[in-house]
Amino acid sequence: GSTIGILGGGQLGRMLSVAAARLGLRTHIFEPGANPPAGDVAHAVTTAPYEDATALTAFANSVDVITYEFENIPTQALDVLEAITPVFPGREALRVSQDRLTEKDFLNDLGLTTAPYKAVDTAEDLDTALTQIGMSAILKTRRFGYDGKGQARISAPQEAAQALSDMAGSPAILEGFVDFSHEVSVIAARGLDGSVAAFDPGENVHKDGILRTTTVPARLSSAQRSDAVLLAARILNALNYVGVMGVELFVTPKGLIVNEIAPRVHNSGHWTQNGCAIDQFEQHIRAVAGWPLGDGQRHTDVVMENLIGDDMDRVPDLAAEPGCALHLYGKAEVKPGRKMGHVNRIQKA
Ligand code: ATP
Ligand code: MG
Ligand code: MG
Repeated sequence: GSTIGILGGGQLGRMLSVAAARLGLRTHIFEPGANPPAGDVAHAVTTAPYEDATALTAFANSVDVITYEFENIPTQALDVLEAITPVFPGREALRVSQDRLTEKDFLNDLGLTTAPYKAVDTAEDLDTALTQIGMSAILKTRRFGYDGKGQARISAPQEAAQALSDMAGSPAILEGFVDFSHEVSVIAARGLDGSVAAFDPGENVHKDGILRTTTVPARLSSAQRSDAVLLAARILNALNYVGVMGVELFVTPKGLIVNEIAPRVHNSGHWTQNGCAIDQFEQHIRAVAGWPLGDGQRHTDVVMENLIGDDMDRVPDLAAEPGCALHLYGKAEVKPGRKMGHVNRIQKA
């Protein structure tokens, strides 16, 4: 059997490892932090920093293909890994998604619509950008942001200085605030042979910048649903992508606006574990292992709810709730804002 190397040992790496195990494959996790959630279920774990070329080399030599659960892999580490073993999704997907500016340039070059945006490095840049984009905007760090971290809303001129100082000198991007009716995402996959499949779009609700729930089916007309799936396919094809990607969209009266893309399995795709024969994790493993993509048809309505921080206190009740599939990540320490698990509630038999 072959072994899949996974960069990152969080809950996504854990659920990828479970899916790989179901297919008779082994996983080897590379993770700088101690006691990674994926370590409980993977065949092997390497604990080393991304600067450790010796550890990276040994890891790459021990696996048949390498994938990842997060997009911020240092370029130098990729150079070492790629020279030994194929990495999927490939370099272009990482280059594009590691930086919000590169990402928005790429999407607009493809003919897709994003929020209006402008790079911001200085106070003067911010002034100019606010003049062009307007006083309803969000300033975001270009790199490393997640769960709404590294973002500041600007709705009045006097909020600009504080927003810029919140960026702590990191290169930033100003985005126009999109007046959306709701948010949806497409979880799409592309195989080594270039075939593309997409799961039914889910509707996402965020709270405090963190995904709270995903509901399928999403509120979309059939035209909007095809539009969402087709634009996702266009992104995957343009990147010659291999694996699963999450594409976050704003729904507006003027059409779909792309918020951001994630070159990996995505929190808003967790519903597929209980809504489809083949879930996003197995689909990703199939793609990177060179298997045919599986049947991701949705067979039931699902509401996925994240269990964050103290939500863990509800686990005994949730475990007894009919139609409620519990997925826990085995994280020892509960922290506010920390994703500890999720539930998928099946809505229809
Ligand atoms: P993730 O955890 O999804 O990677 P992130 O930190 O990269 O999150 P974004 O997806 O950019 O952050 O933004 C988080 C949320 O903030 C969005 O889902 C949306 O609700 C809101 N938001 C972000 N950008 C805009 C915008 N330009 N207009 C309106 N709302 C926005
Ligand atoms: Mg993001
Ligand atoms: Mg997002």
